[in-house]
Amino acid sequence: MSEGRIHSLESFGTVDGPGVRLVVFVQGCPMRCRYCHNPDTWRSEGGQTMSAAEILQTYKRNEAFYRGGGITVSGGEPLGQLKFVTELFAAAKQAGIHTCLDTSGILFDPSHPEEFDSLLAVTDLVLLDIKQIDPAQHRWLTG
Ligand code: SF4
Repeated sequence: MSEGRIHSLESFGTVDGPGVRLVVFVQGCPMRCRYCHNPDTWRSEGGQTMSAAEILQTYKRNEAFYRGGGITVSGGEPLGQLKFVTELFAAAKQAGIHTCLDTSGILFDPSHPEEFDSLLAVTDLVLLDIKQIDPAQHRWLTG
């Protein structure tokens, strides 16, 4: 099992997927959105390391509040820690927990589709955050 580099946990998230959720903010993002609320997640160093089991233990402690909710991984950019997020979601699905991936998609690599297929196989919901549809505006907005 790998470990994730985690910026922070939100134990009562209500805006990152359905219901009340444990939101895992991972450390590291290659985007530089002008409006970013969490620039301290940008650098890939820092944060704390946590295993999937440790995050599930945190979830279990407050499980009664998460009926109709689940676990969301946000960031930072979750696809920067693809292996870890896949392990976390696989463990969550085994425990019957709804999983949600909140990503900009910037690190999608079509030369390794099987890695993304593995993640999607254990992901119930994708929140794909398209920042701007115009390429020039997108570059200005996100760096
Ligand atoms: S993708 Fe998200 S975390 Fe990354 S810079 Fe943009 S708003 Fe911030």
